[in-house]
Amino acid sequence: MNLFDLHTHQNTSSFSIYNQSTNDQKAIAWYSLGLHPWYLKDSWVQDLEKMKVFSQDKNLMAIGECGFDLLKGSDLNLQLSAFTAQIHWAKELGLPIIMHQVKGLHLLQQILKNDSALPAIIWHAYNQKPTIGASLLNFPIYFSFGKDILKPASNAQEFLKKCPLERIFFETDDSELKIEQVFSQASLLLQLPVETLAKQVIDNWNKISKRKIDE
Ligand SMILES: [Zn+2]
Repeated sequence: MNLFDLHTHQNTSSFSIYNQSTNDQKAIAWYSLGLHPWYLKDSWVQDLEKMKVFSQDKNLMAIGECGFDLLKGSDLNLQLSAFTAQIHWAKELGLPIIMHQVKGLHLLQQILKNDSALPAIIWHAYNQKPTIGASLLNFPIYFSFGKDILKPASNAQEFLKKCPLERIFFETDDSELKIEQVFSQASLLLQLPVETLAKQVIDNWNKISKRKIDE
């Protein structure tokens, strides 16, 4: 059984999306590319153009991580413009966004309300109050759960239990965890077999991405 890891910084598995942040780290298989809000430069337009060379690479699975970080990110207007440009690129390619989101919910909401051409946006490492996640379900927002579902009574645990199964993914991100541990914990919390969840996330993926994956 293959357990799909939506977002990882480990370049070791062929059934995961490796966060390839620079062009010199070559993924062994699937990867995502994007401009992270921590590292946005004034030259972001050119940086994005360089990434677009990979648009037709079948291993480019998602755009990201990109998004908002009002604690550690660069200038707010840069963040808004760069994220908007990346959602348009993702939409054009029919690929999802892997979103980094720290304290920028109002900016996301602004985009959700004003932009009619949205790709699927996957909020990675979700660990916010369940009411926040629930308030986004009218939009094409998905949620990826990782290490925080192993912390007792975390927001991530609470929301996972309430989130529609059609909206979930799992990830290891930059943790030391194995994706098996994340799936087993989700299986305990949701009282569903790991096999069911493994199939669910693949179905979810294939509904939102042009680059399909097989079980
Ligand atoms: Zn990450």
